[in-house]
Amino acid sequence: MSNSSLIAPPALVQRDQKHDTAAVQTLDSAHFIHPFTDHADLAAQGAKVIVKADNIHVFDSEGHKMLDAMSGLWCVNAGYARKELADAAYQQMMTLPFYNNFFNTTNVPAVRLAAKLASLAPEVDGRSFRHVFYSSSGSESNDTNVRMVRRYWDLLGQPQRKVIIGRLNGYHGSTMAGASLGGMSGMHAQGDLPIPDIQHIEQPYFAEKARAGESAAEFGVRAARWLEDKILAVGPDRVAAFIGEPVQGAGGVIIPPDTYWPEIQRIVDKYGILLISDEVICAFGRLGHWFAYEKFGYKPDLITFAKGVTSGYVPLGGVMVGDRVAKVLIEQGGEFNHGYTYSGHPVACAVALANIELMEREGLVERVRNDTGPYLAERFEELQAHPLVGAADTCGFVGGITLVKNKATMAAFDADVGVGMICRGHCFKNGLIMRAVGDRMIIAPPLVMTRAQVDELMGLIKLCLDATLDELR
Ligand code: PLP
Repeated sequence: MSNSSLIAPPALVQRDQKHDTAAVQTLDSAHFIHPFTDHADLAAQGAKVIVKADNIHVFDSEGHKMLDAMSGLWCVNAGYARKELADAAYQQMMTLPFYNNFFNTTNVPAVRLAAKLASLAPEVDGRSFRHVFYSSSGSESNDTNVRMVRRYWDLLGQPQRKVIIGRLNGYHGSTMAGASLGGMSGMHAQGDLPIPDIQHIEQPYFAEKARAGESAAEFGVRAARWLEDKILAVGPDRVAAFIGEPVQGAGGVIIPPDTYWPEIQRIVDKYGILLISDEVICAFGRLGHWFAYEKFGYKPDLITFAKGVTSGYVPLGGVMVGDRVAKVLIEQGGEFNHGYTYSGHPVACAVALANIELMEREGLVERVRNDTGPYLAERFEELQAHPLVGAADTCGFVGGITLVKNKATMAAFDADVGVGMICRGHCFKNGLIMRAVGDRMIIAPPLVMTRAQVDELMGLIKLCLDATLDELR
């Protein structure tokens, strides 16, 4: 296939069409700026061209089959090639492919989805979620959070409450506000971030931050109190909100001790500040619940969602707005001067409805909570015996494996070894997609994964750990 045939108007793309990998790579290098990619490196290696997918596997242009233990990018919860979702998109496109929701108009899928989402978010202590604001991504949703939080405090006559506190190594997206709320040093180093009035505290990473002899429970409470220290340092009347991921995903699957979130709740209540739960990864069954705050027992005011709401088939995100904020915005706010062309896109909402229906029909959330999630945890335990593994932990259907140089002392590898990248290379060679975050290998498999497929995954993980160990010897 020549370059010109690649850019010619497409005939029907066949699932089993042959691809000219080199031609795609050449065009890719010439024209495509990728997210989070070093392009010199990409040009040298050539991009891996993913051409199709089915259930838990993806296939590249060379015909290699890979078990996708990352669900695309933490999003393909219902697995690949679900005809129900394609049909829902097709039907909606033929009925109403687009209309905006500005200026007193609405569409049926957006309304039905808002009501459905409200029914899935459990009420805690009389606090419920009856309203949704839509966007097309997690980043846009977190921008929306910043605007909503500021509007809320302005309407309450406390415009000085501007500061939002996030966490170092947290991830909340790539827009100016998203990257600022997050605590990724590499992102802050580019483009003068964070923007003003965003502050950060340390992450609740027990393996890294615990004191000698401190239990996980003690550490959880101490780590949460870093928030109180920060509130006092900023000045309690200047703090607007705290934002956190229930389990930090992109930061390396950092699972907080059970005591962490209840103590965070006590602190935000004490100072009256808003709590934002960024559940872009953790909602829609990833932790065995529709929304993750239920698992950890806290009561957010705003919940960011995206990814799993459509299983990634089409872009959709949003904010679940709790009663405390919704009441003020709706009853006192007049027009909220904020919105995106695609807020409540009918096709995206129709796909989300079909996705939720599918997940309910197949009991995927309960399956992760009661069956495959605990089974994955049990199988992960076995990894502790591996000479390279310092820790292996899961929470629902996310997991992380810390690779260490010395198991007895838990000494880390020197950074220039790049052990995570070595391991990731062996994963690719052996048909497994795992992500490396420093020395931590992480997974977030599709929720449709069966017990037998968990066994297949574990076989591949062990194979890749052995290959990594062999290379390092
Ligand atoms: N928030 C969290 C917790 C995420 O993990 C992500 C993406 O991974 C985002 C926000 C940003 O979402 P998006 O990439 O859809 O903008």
